[in-house]
Amino acid sequence: MTREISGVTLRLVQGDITNEAVDAIVNAANSGLMGGGGVDGAIHRRGGPAILEACKIIRRDQYPNGLPTGQAVVTTGGALPARHVIHTVGPVWHGGDRNEHGLLADAYRNSMEQARQHGLRTVAFPAISTGIFGFPIDQAAPIALGTVAEAARRHPETFDEVRFILFSPDDYEVYRQALGVLRETDA
Ligand code: ADP
Repeated sequence: MTREISGVTLRLVQGDITNEAVDAIVNAANSGLMGGGGVDGAIHRRGGPAILEACKIIRRDQYPNGLPTGQAVVTTGGALPARHVIHTVGPVWHGGDRNEHGLLADAYRNSMEQARQHGLRTVAFPAISTGIFGFPIDQAAPIALGTVAEAARRHPETFDEVRFILFSPDDYEVYRQALGVLRETDA
């Protein structure tokens, strides 16, 4: 399923994000940037050691205490089909009253901003925070789509396509419904 927002294609795909041959895939990392489970582990396994080496340099030079929740950084894609990886840290779900919604929007907004600053025109996102971090996907999907749509509207010449890669058919269905009701004016 696709929708156009200000000339930018938003596309839903069911599959494994490590197969995406795009300018950048986004990693749902943790603040240590040293790899982990879920999509993070899959990206480091397929991308090889160059990604971890780049993360270590970022930790040393920019974020000695770790990447804060909601922020994003760019590394090489190593051996991945994608040229780059944008690492962002989504919030851990604590029930919804600890600004989890705002922090999830920050993760998408700052990932798009890193893509813009590095000239990365086609970007693929996983469903950040909805796995090990426990964010309910029915609440995460409109935040993901709305925040990316807002970035597309704000910078229409900057991006060609943003893909949302859903690992399971159920997750794809949640996103399909959310994309269907996304209003042209949603932020
Ligand atoms: P978080 O810690 O941010 O919750 P996870 O990696 O545990 O991150 O899960 C985020 C989402 O990524 C979940 O929906 C999970 O099913 C999905 N996922 C896991 N592996 C992959 C993969 N290889 N490609 C795409 N999505 C994946």
